[in-house]
Amino acid sequence: MRHDSRQNDQLRPIKVERGYTKATPGSILISAGDTVVLCTASLDDSVPPWKKHDENPSGWVTAEYNMLPGSTSPRKRRKPDGRSSEIQRLIGRSLRAVVDFAALGPRTITVDCDVLQADGGTRTLSITGGFMALLDTVLAIPETCQLAEGEIFDPKKVFSDSVAAVSVGVVSGEPVLDLDYIEDSTAGVDMNVVMTGSSEFVEVQGTAEGQTFNRGMLDAQLELATLGIQQLTAIQRECIGADWPL
Ligand code: UDP
Repeated sequence: MRHDSRQNDQLRPIKVERGYTKATPGSILISAGDTVVLCTASLDDSVPPWKKHDENPSGWVTAEYNMLPGSTSPRKRRKPDGRSSEIQRLIGRSLRAVVDFAALGPRTITVDCDVLQADGGTRTLSITGGFMALLDTVLAIPETCQLAEGEIFDPKKVFSDSVAAVSVGVVSGEPVLDLDYIEDSTAGVDMNVVMTGSSEFVEVQGTAEGQTFNRGMLDAQLELATLGIQQLTAIQRECIGADWPL
């Protein structure tokens, strides 16, 4: 039995609030148990300098991640660190895996993931919520926006699939889904799995702490992650409702 009475294959309760803040069309407050992340997606009608030389400049998606000082105890200092850089690169790669940059056109979307409260799984929840914020911002781009000569912007063409992420691990010798901080800090194996809505892998990161794990345990964790991501995808889809473009 897990310390919070969950089954090994059970996610923490997930809550999503769409349109949480007003400054950006994509603004998602997402929580998994006590982990809470605000994901916003801001649109900028320019592209990175290294894209400007393309004949038909395509777009770009990037991400920033930050844990607010009071999101944990002891307080997290307001200073970029290696962990945050690594996490924001993971979020950016995960979102870009499902975006067609030519269909997006010459614009950049920055997805900001700010952790309001940290209790394990902040990077995976940032990806799940970040995708929804990105989607809402793309849906807000007017169809009259031109791409190349004669081409009309179609938000449905921007995404090849949805993306979501979850943590899995081995706690007290058992594979478990969606670790909170207590589990994360005692886990023998800790993995972060990013998958599309059609259950294709985007990224798998797994580390054993002071032990090893065999192929059977890897497979058991990937199976739990697949089930978890199917549930997260259903939650994303339900929350976006009729606007879901896939
Ligand atoms: N954590 C913290 N301060 C830090 C880094 C981590 O309090 O500077 C806690 C926080 O609860 C976080 C958890 O440790 O969610 C696990 O951190 P990890 O680096 O594994 O990333 P995460 O699981 O949040 O993606």
